[in-house]
Amino acid sequence: MSAPLDGHFARKRFGQNFLVDGNIIRKIVAAIAARPGEAVVEIGPGLGALTEPLLEACGHLHVVEIDRDLIARLKLAHTPEELTIHEGDALRFDFTSLPTDLKVVGNLPYNISTPLLFHLADCAERVREMTFMLQKEVVDRMVAAPDTEAYGRLGVMLQYRFHMARLFDVPPGAFRPSPKVTSAIVRMQPKKPEELDCQDAQLLGRVVTAAFGQRRKTLRNTLREFLGDEDFAALAIDPRARGETLALSDFVRVANFCAERGV
Ligand code: SAM
Repeated sequence: MSAPLDGHFARKRFGQNFLVDGNIIRKIVAAIAARPGEAVVEIGPGLGALTEPLLEACGHLHVVEIDRDLIARLKLAHTPEELTIHEGDALRFDFTSLPTDLKVVGNLPYNISTPLLFHLADCAERVREMTFMLQKEVVDRMVAAPDTEAYGRLGVMLQYRFHMARLFDVPPGAFRPSPKVTSAIVRMQPKKPEELDCQDAQLLGRVVTAAFGQRRKTLRNTLREFLGDEDFAALAIDPRARGETLALSDFVRVANFCAERGV
């Protein structure tokens, strides 16, 4: 077990790697750019590395934290007027209970990052912007372009809902205890309703999951449930190609084509 930080022993099961590098903390807080009166929620405030400067910037903060010891510390350090503490698992937290036009931020625990991103994508219309620190490889997948190794279901589904920007990397030495991997900051801005051109987002999810389910197989095989040979021709998509060659707009065309035919 590593040495305690500020009297707290980091818990691995909660993915606790606390930010200690003042320059990185300033850079992240500047990227979030919280303004007085804005609704901001921080997922996993931990020992408060981001919480304190964010509170200074916007005056009030919602936080969602699972670790009871850390919650007790937060309660001692802050009044309910400045910090609204939601105790429990962010994966089960109802983000729609918070004000709209919300900024969501967090140095996310690596073990829950992918399910949490999908959970948050479901309430994207209430969100103004999300800024997260994640494992670099996860950010690579989130922003990946077609025909790259990192391109897959996570990137396509998130890029459908959000404009994504990779901001900067954060080295392991910025944390205590130091993780084994490099992290990166990503910003996600929900697209406007008129930019969401898919008739059935659930169907899009099914098509994308099938296309990337067996990466070595051709689209003719993976999309068998959705498209016949003549459908590929009508869509001008090569059935011998693989899922990673399709752009987001191609996946949307396939899903809309299937929706129109009641697939
Ligand atoms: N924000 C702090 C920082 O940057 O130093 C702590 C970041 S630490 C990587 C992740 C934080 O998320 C910890 O405080 C941990 O207890 C909390 N956490 C882990 N799993 C969680 C979950 N399922 N729901 C809410 N918080 C969680």
